[in-house]
Amino acid sequence: MTIVTRFAPSPTGLLHVGHAYSATLAWNKAIEAGGRFLLRMEDIDQTRCRPEFEEAIYEDLNWLGLKWEKPIRKQSEHMDDYEVVLDRLFERGLIYPCFCTRREIAAEIAASHSAPHGSEGPLYPGTCRSLSNKQRDENFAKEKPYALRLDMSAALKEVDVTQLFFRELDKGVIQCDPVKFGDAVLARKETPTSYHLAVTLDDAFQGVNLVVRGQDLFGATHLHRLLQHLLDLPTPNYFHHGLVSDMKGRRLAKRDKSVTLQDIRGNGYSQEDVRKLIGFKI
Ligand code: GLU
Repeated sequence: MTIVTRFAPSPTGLLHVGHAYSATLAWNKAIEAGGRFLLRMEDIDQTRCRPEFEEAIYEDLNWLGLKWEKPIRKQSEHMDDYEVVLDRLFERGLIYPCFCTRREIAAEIAASHSAPHGSEGPLYPGTCRSLSNKQRDENFAKEKPYALRLDMSAALKEVDVTQLFFRELDKGVIQCDPVKFGDAVLARKETPTSYHLAVTLDDAFQGVNLVVRGQDLFGATHLHRLLQHLLDLPTPNYFHHGLVSDMKGRRLAKRDKSVTLQDIRGNGYSQEDVRKLIGFKI
């Protein structure tokens, strides 16, 4: 089997050393196996993505010596693909519109003594799950903003979660626990996809069979595996790598200007310096 990996940045800021690590790792895994390396722009959030960041990504990756197949996939050019899938999920009763504001959700959680909890705190309490068609239509008619949420309990009826697994390189088979996500948001009124839906579909559309990404997304993979099952998509293998941190042990963020590849380059360091810094042999 030809290994197909990818690097999937969002052009919402400049790449830093952590991105260099992730991209180089994915590239190495592909190249060492005689496989393919893809680049994908995850630019669904058009309010935060900027063309200059996209240009900077190409420049930085080129500078690092990585080569990717062209043309690349840009998520913003495929909104129709995501919409088709959302329609199918809606017809199957697996998603529903949620009109709650953040404030309403917080108030509902505060008022309830038994709000369901996930790994990252309280989950959406399901307020809009049982709205009637009439109530939904009234809300649509008022042009209220909405999110499309996965109906987790309906989804769980379509799968035996005890049989839901993914393979993590170096760790083996991981049993999935998607329930901790609750009714996850899969799209919003203005944007017919969320990260979770787009990443799952695109990895399948692009034939990616080894997803290399940061440990911070390990939890999300449990949800992605459920979506793969619901949408009859293949399951790639995964490698969630450790995150690069700064001298104080804090995870690098896009706002940390001093560790951007542009800045490092501007200070006269070479790509070999960066590769050494992130622990690769030159
Ligand atoms: N677009 C995501 C990010 O920039 C990465 C998604 C992934 O690799 O699955 O954090």
